[in-house]
Amino acid sequence: MPNSPELITDLTQLAQWVQAQSAAGLSVGLVPTMGALHAGHLSLVESAAQHSDSVLVTIFVNPTQFAANEDLQQYPRDLEGDLQLLQSVAKVTVFAPTVADIYPLENSTARNVESNKLDDVAMRWEGERRPGHFLGVTTIVHKLFTLTKPQIAFFGRKDYQQLRVIEQLTEERQHNIKIVGCPIVREEDGLAMSSRNAYLTTAQRTQATAIYKGLQTACNMANNMEMAATELQDVVRKQLANAEINGIDYVAVVHPKSLEPLALLDRTEQIKQIKLGAIILVAVFVGNTRLIDNIFIPPNNS
Ligand code: AMP
Repeated sequence: MPNSPELITDLTQLAQWVQAQSAAGLSVGLVPTMGALHAGHLSLVESAAQHSDSVLVTIFVNPTQFAANEDLQQYPRDLEGDLQLLQSVAKVTVFAPTVADIYPLENSTARNVESNKLDDVAMRWEGERRPGHFLGVTTIVHKLFTLTKPQIAFFGRKDYQQLRVIEQLTEERQHNIKIVGCPIVREEDGLAMSSRNAYLTTAQRTQATAIYKGLQTACNMANNMEMAATELQDVVRKQLANAEINGIDYVAVVHPKSLEPLALLDRTEQIKQIKLGAIILVAVFVGNTRLIDNIFIPPNNS
């Protein structure tokens, strides 16, 4: 019988664990999560286990990254289930702190002091639609990096913009941590795994498959013919409309590093940029559930 992973719930215990890893010369791989774990999270944990001696999975529903109108209260929490799922991976320790541990001074200056100069990458797309979101994300990730001192940290490409923001945070804050972006894990029908998929009704779950279908169709077209960003966006939008997904926050073909929209360029330049490699980002509401997904259009040298 596999054992439940060691569970750390307070900062003193955590400091001791971090110290013990360092004293034993063991490298630490960090996997920050908000829990309600699924196979997408597990793939990050497995990757961490391959690349480091000890794996620390953090489970913390971070209040500062939710806007006031968002689903903080409803967000699924299942620590028991999470610990069970993690039994399948060796060398995992779980850190599940309380909000008071992480934010001891409510509304304190601490958050502001730690606020980062969020540049263009964090200001667009999710940053624009979810004000304060990336400030919350960078605050928690910076705190976790500082508290847990990993050599390497794993994030999903599912949250592609978050990954880019964290890469920048790491550089800006001079954290000596390697950031690894892991592939998107999908359900059999292509829907990107997400803790929020649990909110979907059966009918909405079916509708939601149009997101990846649209992304795939557009990506195939980009690989096989000269398509402008605007045209690719229309392909995705059409597939979403066919599935009666009308609440579209954005569908955008963007530069993979800067996340700048390519649709603003002239048509020839759009095609040229897409041939160098691009990302299509999507955020939609299916019912009241907000889902995000993306696909990488690889460079095309032909
Ligand atoms: P969350 O618990 O939603 O904050 O996610 C924790 C980490 O798991 C983030 O780095 C996510 O990008 C990653 N993640 C979530 N869903 C997936 C997925 N379907 N495939 C790969 N990574 C994922």
